[in-house]
Amino acid sequence: MDSGASEFQIEAAISKIFASGQPWNVTDECIQVMGGMGFMKDAGVERIMRDLRIFRIFEGTNDILRLFVALNGFQNAGNHLKNLQKALKNPLGNVGLLTGEITKRAKRYESGLGTGLSLSGSVHPELAHSGDLAVKALEHFGGTVEELLLKHGKKIIDEQFVLKRVADSAIDLYTMVVVLSRASRSLSQGLTSAQLEKIMCETWCVEAHDRIMQNVKDLKSSSSRKLFNNLRDVSTSLVENGGVVAPHPLGF
Ligand SMILES: Cc1cc2nc3c(=O)[nH]c(=O)nc-3n(C[C@H](O)[C@H](O)[C@H](O)COP(=O)(O)OP(=O)(O)OC[C@H]3O[C@@H](n4cnc5c(N)ncnc54)[C@H](O)[C@@H]3O)c2cc1C
Repeated sequence: MDSGASEFQIEAAISKIFASGQPWNVTDECIQVMGGMGFMKDAGVERIMRDLRIFRIFEGTNDILRLFVALNGFQNAGNHLKNLQKALKNPLGNVGLLTGEITKRAKRYESGLGTGLSLSGSVHPELAHSGDLAVKALEHFGGTVEELLLKHGKKIIDEQFVLKRVADSAIDLYTMVVVLSRASRSLSQGLTSAQLEKIMCETWCVEAHDRIMQNVKDLKSSSSRKLFNNLRDVSTSLVENGGVVAPHPLGF
């Protein structure tokens, strides 16, 4: 926004999801740390928790916003892939283009060569490793999004278990870049909080990177596919039955 960008719906959606989800976890942890006192009205934390709960529902429920984030991302990726999809419909007439794309992808994902993207120069040198983690996660995520789009095409819209993991990864990527930006600024300005911010940034980047890589793995694995189908079947049975299908063991 500061640099004059006029399109920031995805960033706004990500910020809303993150800013309404994380405080819930923090408050829940706070009540746990306080023990029974945290649960009581006098401490004031239970009120914060009750008030926080609505933020995940109004101003766009977080579930719908996750779909928005994922599908907008797919739309952008889809525009880049249009030529490739056209070429796949007529492979013999597009041998050159397809060979180039296949070589590029093989190099990128299998021989470990990256896209050439780097955050050095943008992030503070002390945060170079965290910057590399963000780039690595971005490259794996980008490759997975392309694969998913080529596999599902427009039907990706019906794959909500996939879309949730794509959105969560996009959110993690965005937050990595945000904390890198903030901690880099603090380090550059020599703020007294800079070293603490650096530690927090490094910790966040490692955890977010690992979550993204796990999501990428899940999105590609056949056992996750089976799990998604199981979850879909359980939900369908529940809806068709108008309630829980399995009888209660005590007969209730
Ligand atoms: C205290 C309060 C204040 C409010 N203030 C305002 C206000 O000022 N102005 C205003 O316009 N509205 C207001 N609302 C309404 C609020 O915006 C809605 O409650 C909210 O948009 C969710 O809609 P819903 O309650 O109909 O839930 P539903 O749309 O029925 O959703 C129920 C659940 O299903 C999920 N869901 C729905 N569709 C899908 C889908 N396609 N895929 C996956 N999941 C899905 C949702 O994420 C949600 O978890 C307020 C609500 C409350 C409780």
